[in-house]
Formats: sequence, structure tokens, C-alpha cells
Amino acid sequence: LRSSHAMAYRDDLTGLLGRRALNERLQGLGARYSIAMLDVDHFKKFNDTHGHDVGDEVLKMVASRMAGVGGGGAAYRYGGEEFCIVFPRRDAPDCEEALEEVRQSIADYSMTLRNKGDRPQHSSDGARKRGKMATRVNSSNVSVTISIGLAQRSEKLDSPEEVLKAADKMLYKAKQAGRNKLRF
Ligand code: GH3
Ligand code: MG
Ligand code: MG
Repeated sequence: LRSSHAMAYRDDLTGLLGRRALNERLQGLGARYSIAMLDVDHFKKFNDTHGHDVGDEVLKMVASRMAGVGGGGAAYRYGGEEFCIVFPRRDAPDCEEALEEVRQSIADYSMTLRNKGDRPQHSSDGARKRGKMATRVNSSNVSVTISIGLAQRSEKLDSPEEVLKAADKMLYKAKQAGRNKLRF
């Protein structure tokens, strides 16, 4: 599987299919399909607060939840902290449950961090902190949410590009509505 073909189509960080694979999938979808755009909320702030490496770990977690989406959806990394899920042969309302599950499972996920800033500087401090309180003192939990915009193919939106653009508009609505939401 580590062929040059797989490497050209898979995203390195998340293992999801990337933009090139998405563009191929968007061809020949037929007359009925839906597309969801998904974006991590306030991710710039998250990176600034916890560091880029922790951000990368979060993107891997987010991607694995999206890869497990139901309803016949296929997940792609669109770029950065943006993802896309294609649902062949489905109208938007029939994708709601599967997408809500993804949104909720990401919101519910809590990642435990070793709190580097609280690492003991002196060995005597270390001996004290390595005691009973060590776990609580030296770790913290972080979590993220995502917003989702969803659109379906219709006579008005009769190309994948137009449906994707409409999904992106709904994503903007989800952000405006307070984030951690699905809009379609
Ligand atoms: P919003 O809720 O409106 O989406 O706000 P946001 O901060 O998520 O949006 P913005 O587009 O301002 O920031 C996106 C951030 O995503 C900035 C960038 O550093 C981060 N990012 C993009 N790709 C990666 C990546 O591969 N790894 C990490 N750690 N961060 C990434
Ligand atoms: Mg974004
Ligand atoms: Mg974002």
C-alpha cells in the first residue's frame, strides 16, 4: 500500500485521502449526492495555546472520527483544519444523523496533556510533585469542537463545485450561530 500512488492521494498527517482524491471523487457523482464541509473551531487559538504538535495530534483524532462517519460518507482532508465528507446517493436530511454523531464524538473527546510548564525545575520539588498529587498537578485535559456545513445537489446547484460552495456558506452560518453546530 505504500506505493507512490497511495502517497500521492493520502494526506501524510491524518492518513485521510486528500484534495486530489476528492477532486476525482467529485466527478461522476450523478444527480443525487450531498457534500459536507467541516472545520475545527478556533483552531488558531488552540495552536497558540497548546502548541503546533498538540494541534497535529488533535487533527489526527478529528480525522479518525471523520473516517468512521456512517451513512455511506467518505472523508477527505480538504486542507489545513478543513475536511470534506461526500455522501453519494443521499439528500442532506439523510446525512444529518451521521454528521451529528461525528460532531458530538469530537466534542466529547478529551485529550490528556502532560503539562510541561508545571514540570519541576528542582529535584526536591520533583520528589514532592512525584507524590500522590503528580497526576493532577502535571496534566490537563483539552478538547475541540467542529462546525459543519452541508448541502445537496439540486437543479439549482447542479455541479459538485456549486454544492461545495453552498456547503461552505452553510459552514459560515454554523460558525455565526456559535460553532459546534451543523447547518444545512
Ligand atoms: P474558526 O473557528 O473561525 O474556524 O477559527 P480558526 O482559528 O479555526 O480559523 P483560522 O482559519 O483563523 O485558523 C486556522 C488555523 O489552523 C491556523 C493554522 O495554524 C491551523 N492549522 C492549519 N493546518 C494545520 C496543521 O496541519 N497542524 C496544526 N497544528 N495546525 C494547523
Ligand atoms: Mg478554516
Ligand atoms: Mg477553523
